[in-house]
Amino acid sequence: MRIGDYLISKGKLTDSQLKDTLLVQSINGEKLGDILVESGYVNDVDIIDYLVQDSGKEFFQELCGLCINKNENERLGFSFLYSIPAIILTRGDDNYIVCSEITEDLSEKMAFDENLAGFKIGLSTKRKIYGALNSTFISKSGSSEKDILDEAIDSALLKGSPNLRIKRSESFYAVIMDTDARQETIRVLSMESGQRIINIIAAHCQATLKKGEGLDAKFIFVSNFYKGVKVDIRVAFLPISSKLDKELALFEAVLRIHGLNKVIDFKYIGFSDRKAELLKKAYIYPDGLIISTGPTGSGKTTTFYAMLKLLSQKKKSIITIEDPVEIELRESNITQMNISDNFGYEEAIRVMLRSEPGIMMVGEIRDETTAKYALIAAETGHLVLTTLHANCSLAIFNRFKSLNVDLLQLFSLLRFVTAQRLYTPLCFSCKKEISFEKLPPLYRNAMKERFESGIDMLSSASYDFIKSDKVLGLDSVYVGGKSNCVDCGGTGYAKRKPIIEIAEFNDAVKEEIYKDSAVLFNHSKLEEILLNLSGFESLKIQAFQKLINGEIDPETYFNLSN
Ligand SMILES: [Zn+2]
Repeated sequence: MRIGDYLISKGKLTDSQLKDTLLVQSINGEKLGDILVESGYVNDVDIIDYLVQDSGKEFFQELCGLCINKNENERLGFSFLYSIPAIILTRGDDNYIVCSEITEDLSEKMAFDENLAGFKIGLSTKRKIYGALNSTFISKSGSSEKDILDEAIDSALLKGSPNLRIKRSESFYAVIMDTDARQETIRVLSMESGQRIINIIAAHCQATLKKGEGLDAKFIFVSNFYKGVKVDIRVAFLPISSKLDKELALFEAVLRIHGLNKVIDFKYIGFSDRKAELLKKAYIYPDGLIISTGPTGSGKTTTFYAMLKLLSQKKKSIITIEDPVEIELRESNITQMNISDNFGYEEAIRVMLRSEPGIMMVGEIRDETTAKYALIAAETGHLVLTTLHANCSLAIFNRFKSLNVDLLQLFSLLRFVTAQRLYTPLCFSCKKEISFEKLPPLYRNAMKERFESGIDMLSSASYDFIKSDKVLGLDSVYVGGKSNCVDCGGTGYAKRKPIIEIAEFNDAVKEEIYKDSAVLFNHSKLEEILLNLSGFESLKIQAFQKLINGEIDPETYFNLSN
């Protein structure tokens, strides 16, 4: 049975959804399963389920699976099965279909191991297992079930996911995280591991599971990632019946992660997963400087407030000095102050320097004295968040130079520098593709110029995607439909979103720059170091990517990149 038909027969997909997906496939040529998951119609587990069904067995055997003789393996006390990293996908009457990452030396191992002599096994020819399983492969890291559970809860916290599901399929368990648009499988576990995780959760809750009876319980999770932050977790244990293993009490579990309202979600503001995770790194820095650049109305203050809410969980005192306070934060350890004529940034920082090291947000560095005191604070154990007027994150060094700041001192204290803007994406419902030729002359000429000058148009030639055929052959862009579209009211644009570049000055970056501090003023060299050592993506490059992807029109692109 083909995948689409299978999913329809299981009620996971509708006819019209399949039609849409096939249409998309005819355009982009990707695997149907990938498109189905991408579009949120089904989740990874549904696809794996399909692959494991009768029609899929062959697929696994051929591509990446092992077929292990059950009797022989039992004769050896499961030693073979557990001596290789593998999970059981299906249990047949006399064999297992196992998915494994096979290495060449396995055949050698078999030849030399007496126990394995005469062992019948069908070896796959490809080393890599199917991608969907590969990333979630339990034995790869050799971590314990407790580690797996802790990591899963932490990544749910990090991604702002409200639910974590330990779900049982016909032949394996999956750890699934609910995200905005879809359910994401983060781990696939063997039956044994999955059941052990359920038992660990039950032990955390001090709950006794009885066969066939559901149970609600709760426990307090202490996060590793958020350094000791405690989170309330409510658990629903759901009993399941199974034809196999009749004697066992089997359960699935849904973990509802409370206390998440305290972890304000950067994704809610509109940042991508990757950017949100970078911003959340603020939590692990004990001290230093976090600087945000960007014009008024770029949303940078909202980003800082989200960061302060996150930092408030550290139970350190947080003081903000603003001009004026824009949003009142209710957390008990946050004190917000307005500056006034006779109480400026300088006086406020001096007051804070007398208190225990904590976290401070200094509205803006405008003059030499404020800059000096902000640096003293960062140097004496405070984590200082502040803003500075500069064109981009890498322009701060010139700006600080004009404020007579010791640049090497500044540089040694830097954690990260951001530059933020707001932009209007095209309305997804009515945007349309047009060739360069049909653009207004102003944009047409500017686009041609940029593309003809090739990669030089960007300050750094190191971004790989610039060299892709898709970019080099580009001769059309997207613009808003401006029809009577109901989704955008005919404007052609969707809701404004933030775009942010984050220059992370980690140890590797600092080490490189200490070799030759002159690069602080060499924009393209600095960008290249940051790109290579901390994954920097400039606003320009992100805007260009959005243009290529048809997310923004040329006007927005030029606004963002000039
Ligand atoms: Zn529209």
